[in-house]
Amino acid sequence: MMQSTMVGPDQPTSPGQRYIKKYLTIISVIFCLTLIGVFWGFNSRANFLIKEQLLKQARAYSKEITLIRGWIAAHGGVYVKKQPGVSENPYLKDIPTVKAKIIDADQEVYFLKNPAMATREISEMAREERIFSFHITSLKPINPQNSPDEFETQALTEFETLNTKEVFQLDTRGDESVFRYIIPLLVKESCLQCHAAQGYKVGDIRGGISVSLPASDIIAQIRTSKIYIVVFALTLLITLTGIILLISNQLIRELQNAEKRLYEMATRDFLTGLLNRREGFRRFQEEISKSSRNLQPLTAIILDIDHFKTVNDTYGHLAGDKVLQVLPDTLIPVLRDYDIFCRYGGEEFLLILPSTTLQKGVEIAERLRKKIAESRFPVKNETTVTLTVSLGVAQLTGNENENSLINRVDAALYKAKARGRNCVHFLEKS
Ligand code: GH3
Ligand code: MG
Ligand code: MG
Repeated sequence: MMQSTMVGPDQPTSPGQRYIKKYLTIISVIFCLTLIGVFWGFNSRANFLIKEQLLKQARAYSKEITLIRGWIAAHGGVYVKKQPGVSENPYLKDIPTVKAKIIDADQEVYFLKNPAMATREISEMAREERIFSFHITSLKPINPQNSPDEFETQALTEFETLNTKEVFQLDTRGDESVFRYIIPLLVKESCLQCHAAQGYKVGDIRGGISVSLPASDIIAQIRTSKIYIVVFALTLLITLTGIILLISNQLIRELQNAEKRLYEMATRDFLTGLLNRREGFRRFQEEISKSSRNLQPLTAIILDIDHFKTVNDTYGHLAGDKVLQVLPDTLIPVLRDYDIFCRYGGEEFLLILPSTTLQKGVEIAERLRKKIAESRFPVKNETTVTLTVSLGVAQLTGNENENSLINRVDAALYKAKARGRNCVHFLEKS
């Protein structure tokens, strides 16, 4: 029966639920973007700090090399005693101003180690120790071993054309990362001893001091930290998304319950739990349209309790309320699921019977009357009373609306009362 079905709003998601979903989605998106932003910021900062650290190290190493080189050059090179592993520098032999080899009074032989060669040999030692490596390079090297690679060639060209003071870059090939750093090497007076023949003047850029720092370890460590952070961020994201989903589901459930309660309050009669007059009328209008469309009969009944005032006067209003509460239970079994049953007002009830002719409606009204007349209704403690009802019945006619039908049913009810109550009166089609 329609009075007991349909307890919630029709739409699956109400504006309130959509509102909650919308704002929680916005909060989640803002949260995700913030998290991505924080991670991106950390990543950029970490990359910046690695480069800064490597750059500081490279600057310090190149300063040291410059000092060592400067000291050697200031002394015109250093002579090293001939022994296994110490050989003459073949590039110095042909320079007339340079003594590439000397022999002392004891006939011991010493070879000249010029700055480039000394630094190259120290570089070899550093490379073997895997600390760092460096070498002196030039676009016009005397020794082909000092030829620049691609990075150095580009940097040396920049020194000459753009007057750049230093060039650096992080090279990553597969798992190997190397920080490259190069500063210009300016021609000093002491350099001309060997390099005057190349046409250099003091202050010219003769080449560069190139330093390479192994960076794989530090980059691997940073990569591991990044992985930890991504895992942490994802865990946080999943946890918080879960919490947000839980909260939103809880909120939506509470809202659904509140909406359901509101809907009930708006459509139900609080005393009997039946549809209230307004909702009953709304459905009544729907049924009239349906029956007109489908050319189906429709019959309406108004049921009024006889002398109900006496119940109130005898047992009090609370007892009267109790009677009104239980009376529908007696009537409902007689009705069909699709019949509309509402409290029309006071002690009057309206019944709309779709697909029902007047004859069938009168039969149902008679059954309702009988059921009431045969029942007893509790009023106080063990006390029960009998009641009778009067019913007016009429069938919807071709061009009738709900108000004119109700008027005719009312008129029929009036007649039933006039006939002495506890009876059914119907009006034929007008
Ligand atoms: P009849 O219909 O047979 O002519 O007599 P009646 O006494 O039933 O009709 P009347 O219209 O004189 O009085 C209706 C009574 O119904 C009076 C009113 O106090 C009572 N009533 C209406 N609504 C409620 C309610 O919600 N609770 C209680 N307890 N009584 C109600
Ligand atoms: Mg009445
Ligand atoms: Mg009455």
